[in-house]
Amino acid sequence: MAQSEEFRAYVEDEFPNRTPDWNDAGSRRRFLKLMGASIALSGVSACTVQPKEVIVPYVHQPEEFVPGVPLYYATAMSIGGIATGLLVKSNLGRPTKIEGNPQHPASLGSTDATMQASVLTLYDPDRSKSVTRNGYVDTWGNFVTALGGMRDVARLKKGAGFRILSGTVTSPTLGAHIQKFLTAFPSAKWHQYEPCGRHSARAGSIAAFGRPFNTIYRLDRANVVVSLDADFLCAGMPGGVRYARDYSGRRRAAAENASVTPPRLYVAEGTPSISGGMAEHRFRMRTSEVEAFAVALAQALNLGVNGTGAPSEAVTAVAKDLNANHGSSLVIAGEYQSPRVHAIAHAINQALGNAGKTVTYTDAVEVSPIDEVASIGELVKDINSGAVDTLLMLGGNPVYDAPADLNFLETLKKVGFRAHVGLYSNETAAWCHWHVPEAHYLESWSDARAYDGTASIVQPLIAPIYDGKTFHEVMNVLAGAPDYSPHETVRDYWQSQHKGKDFDDFWQISLHDGIVAGTAFPEKAPPAAKVPGATPASGGGLEIVFRPDPAVGDGAMSNSGWLQEMPRPQTKMTWDNAVWISPKSAERYGVATGDIVTMEYRGRKVDGPVWILPGHADESLTLQFGYGRTRAGKIGNDIGFNAYALRPSDTLWHGAGVSITRKSKGYLFATTQHTQTMEERDPFRAGTFAEYHQQPAFANPEDQRVANDHSMFPLWDYSRGYKWGMSIDLTACVGCHACTIACQSENNIAVVGKAEVAKGRHMHWIRVDRYYKGSLDDPEMYFQPVPCMHCENALCELVCPVAATVHSAEGLNEMVYNRCVGTRYCSNNCPYKVRRFNFFLYSDWVSESLYGVRNPDVSVRSRGVMEKCSYCLQRINRAKIESEKADRRVADGDIVTACQQACPTEAIVFGDLNDPNSRVSKLKRQQRDYGLLEELNTRPRTTYLARLRNPNPDLKKG
Ligand code: SF4
Repeated sequence: MAQSEEFRAYVEDEFPNRTPDWNDAGSRRRFLKLMGASIALSGVSACTVQPKEVIVPYVHQPEEFVPGVPLYYATAMSIGGIATGLLVKSNLGRPTKIEGNPQHPASLGSTDATMQASVLTLYDPDRSKSVTRNGYVDTWGNFVTALGGMRDVARLKKGAGFRILSGTVTSPTLGAHIQKFLTAFPSAKWHQYEPCGRHSARAGSIAAFGRPFNTIYRLDRANVVVSLDADFLCAGMPGGVRYARDYSGRRRAAAENASVTPPRLYVAEGTPSISGGMAEHRFRMRTSEVEAFAVALAQALNLGVNGTGAPSEAVTAVAKDLNANHGSSLVIAGEYQSPRVHAIAHAINQALGNAGKTVTYTDAVEVSPIDEVASIGELVKDINSGAVDTLLMLGGNPVYDAPADLNFLETLKKVGFRAHVGLYSNETAAWCHWHVPEAHYLESWSDARAYDGTASIVQPLIAPIYDGKTFHEVMNVLAGAPDYSPHETVRDYWQSQHKGKDFDDFWQISLHDGIVAGTAFPEKAPPAAKVPGATPASGGGLEIVFRPDPAVGDGAMSNSGWLQEMPRPQTKMTWDNAVWISPKSAERYGVATGDIVTMEYRGRKVDGPVWILPGHADESLTLQFGYGRTRAGKIGNDIGFNAYALRPSDTLWHGAGVSITRKSKGYLFATTQHTQTMEERDPFRAGTFAEYHQQPAFANPEDQRVANDHSMFPLWDYSRGYKWGMSIDLTACVGCHACTIACQSENNIAVVGKAEVAKGRHMHWIRVDRYYKGSLDDPEMYFQPVPCMHCENALCELVCPVAATVHSAEGLNEMVYNRCVGTRYCSNNCPYKVRRFNFFLYSDWVSESLYGVRNPDVSVRSRGVMEKCSYCLQRINRAKIESEKADRRVADGDIVTACQQACPTEAIVFGDLNDPNSRVSKLKRQQRDYGLLEELNTRPRTTYLARLRNPNPDLKKG
């Protein structure tokens, strides 16, 4: 019997250390994609050799190194070339967690989801591991010889035929390196191209001022903010983390103090954004109509801008509000709007006296702020004319993401010597003669500038795991010094810039602090802004809008399981991109969510699944980049569709004339939220600042509160020790999900894959619910983070048959993993649905390779175990140990949960409720504090502060 097929099948299915799809070859590959991030980490430990150069810890000096006690190092991560300062936690030489650098102006201690997820990329087994030549493994030495040979040939022609292609560069050292090469080889050329770069902002500044100034917004000083399709709240815009902090800080201050003027946000946009969700007034219009809105606004402000505007009641009201706030208002143009919209925003800000107050200008932070679309176009033209024989690509993936009309792949094939340096052997590397693995930023010495020009030294926390090389090492080959280390290169650059004799001190302090003191660019006063003529209309008909994906961005992070599984703020969709369309347009074109449509735009066709998105502009489609990858890695390959394939270089962000044809139906999306409205209940409570100041208890009226003694059981006396609690401010939260990914990183939370998410088995310990209120065509959007509530009357504890979930003397609802037998009664009885169950062995906790990214202070859960938010118990215990050693109580602020630490808006506050002066105690004393489903008498320790808004009384809808 033991040999029978039935018995073997039974045994195999009894203890499947795998998902149910394991026996299907196709699905098994998908599963391996998910688990690959850990499986192929084998050998990481053998490579975790610290670099020989001295790096400087942020908090402790090396002599205080204690096994088990992590060190923090300051470094910086660049997205689209623009840096944000970080502190990275290192456990015994392994970087395990990303935090923001409180001293860095772009961070102030916070991060976004992309930065949080970047540590997973470091350990990604799909990263490129070796130098290849024509697809076969080769050596760095042979590459040095080959590239050196091309350099020597180019020298005979003063560099003619030699081209470098990079993304946007702000690194002073790399910039100096490239400039030095161009000086020695004057006929060589450097091209830059960033697929979702700041092309419009740069062109808008040149149009308005004659040269590319860098624009910095001061949200902390603005009473009235007008966004012209600008998603400036922590959504990929340079400085977005800082802007979210400043903006939410103003709102919080106004809630706490009636004498502080609450800010008011107006957003004109077509594609629903995070900023649109936070707006007091969101004006829904096609993306192409935002320019007419801007013209009308400028005309209503008597700016004398030519062109046909779109005057309306809204424009009149906004203009009146702006006029009433001279010097304390702000108009922000969207990164993906036309250069003219940027020029109009500059002109309005100058006219209103905002320049120098709520908006400041500096020199461009890029080393060479060129028109990047023209730059890659020029490269393609030169290749086609036979003028290029050597192309060195420092990062990037133009075969995947260059404008479709450039036909980059066919052009690339004409270059005689093609070399690519990158983290992955991607679609572009596949067509290059040479590919060199790039060192991850956590493995690299480098430098970069932030949104305000502040320079940071990028210092490595670990030696290159896969023997990657930095761009500096590759440039050193061109400089004839291939053995010169990136550490010496970066240090030498800064030594050449430093005036004093104390360079060693300067260098140590710069490394320690994560910023090079005094490098923020000084303010400049640009000339009076000129507004160029109207942007040529791109034709009529259905509009097409291109955007980076809210999670995986332009596609560079497509192989991150954490980001793939991050629910998108607007849709709660995971693992996919989609064709977003408004409810009305869906009806008009006869399509429904899940239908596959063929889109045809300017002679190119792509198929994609439809998602009906409330609040989307009518007669408009939005497509997200980052999908349709073929060489992203096991996680990111073969999912979604490639929106770049439809994107022409003269219509980078939106155009008109796309057609859609319904092809089939039934595409399965994996979403984490299926209810879009509050169903007559009020989990999310909102009011206006005016209402709040008149009736402070509007969110939690006395007559609806449950009496303290309304229980069969006596209340526990928490007065002797600590009493932990959390407050989440819905006035501040923008729904960015940085907290979700920070929690995933801190607590070793598994990725489960699309099929499991579709079954509701995602594992996030803190989700962010999104509710709509009002008409589906143009609803208000609310975001509400929901972790475990740590109820004092915890319904989960009552039904657990083995006491696996129990209450601590400090009020924590704890999970004893070792006792859990997986009945899931607790989850069924939890009204908040915050308990997550490991239906399968999502985490490979046996494999030694998992050591790389895992937090050693947190267990890795197995199959059959319930898990949920612990208030970062490991952080609580560490703080308690430290306080006991110092013979004192844990002080307020000693414990910062992972979600709290990452949150750009400081919406989450944790602390001791027994301390009346703790921040959390003070917040809970605010009368807008309320508990979710409090009427069930669960007595949740996590409570919410109702959202407050400041609508304009002159406008009906707010
Ligand atoms: Fe973003 Fe979470 Fe903070 Fe809300 S609570 S702003 S979703 S990090």
